[in-house]
Amino acid sequence: MLVGAHVSSSGGLASALERGERLGVDAIQIFTQSPRMWRSPSHPAEVLAAYRATQATHPSVRATFCHATYLINLASDGEIGERSRRCLVENLVAATAIGAKGLVLHVGSHRGAGLDGCLAGIGAALREALEATEGRLGEPACPLLLENAAGTGGTVGRSFEELALLLEAAGGDQRLGVCLDTQHLFASGVPFGTIEEADAALAALDAAVGLERLACLHLNDSKVPFGANRDRHENLGEGEIGEHTLSCLLGHPALARLPALLEVPGSGDGPRVEDVAVARRVIAEGIAMRGGRALLRSAPARGARPG
Ligand SMILES: [Zn+2]
Ligand SMILES: [Zn+2]
Repeated sequence: MLVGAHVSSSGGLASALERGERLGVDAIQIFTQSPRMWRSPSHPAEVLAAYRATQATHPSVRATFCHATYLINLASDGEIGERSRRCLVENLVAATAIGAKGLVLHVGSHRGAGLDGCLAGIGAALREALEATEGRLGEPACPLLLENAAGTGGTVGRSFEELALLLEAAGGDQRLGVCLDTQHLFASGVPFGTIEEADAALAALDAAVGLERLACLHLNDSKVPFGANRDRHENLGEGEIGEHTLSCLLGHPALARLPALLEVPGSGDGPRVEDVAVARRVIAEGIAMRGGRALLRSAPARGARPG
């Protein structure tokens, strides 16, 4: 399993690769624009190309994932919906331009109105973003990864079944995938505290969306209890999930080739060297728990596109 971390890209996109190197991670996740602002910076083409070149030759950080702007709400109509669709395209264009392995998206919230009324609109918005980026820049277009939600209010994607509905509404394009956040999974009420429960959770994901769509994990402990439906990350081992439960899930052989990206608070500035060490230990314990049958972490990172 590749261990990754969300890192800041302040001071230039390529500086994120250096931060990742200092953390000793195999993969990083970045925002290509401010996550809480609509305005997208126009990264000059040479900056984007330089990122790709640096990434291609980077000895330790082998893959970059991007996280889309938090303001995006594809379940919204009117002006917010329009801004959201435009912003998603901008995020996916930038992610493609830097050669990212995936753009992780919080789909949005219907704010209690129900998924039925907004499903077609979300599907159309996802298709539009994929089409806008297909075949651009001569680069393989970046996969778009829908993240499971913790289930706050009317958040969309709170269950594997909802993720499956979203993928179907978007036409099931091969570039569509899923990012599984361990804190959101726990907060949405899916147990994985034994090997049997972890296996059942992944079997349910497989049945609903197919494990071949699973492109990365967000590896976080939880500040809130099981089933609390709130998105609150904690450092691994310091929260309500705990190391043992995380190990039960992370040792599963189906996850062995995937990057697990830390989005933990650290001491306030995000993942630290010690958080990466805990992540590696939790994964190793999970593999050992299952008899060491998982694949080695030297396996290549995988995007949502098969092969
Ligand atoms: Zn996440
Ligand atoms: Zn979260």
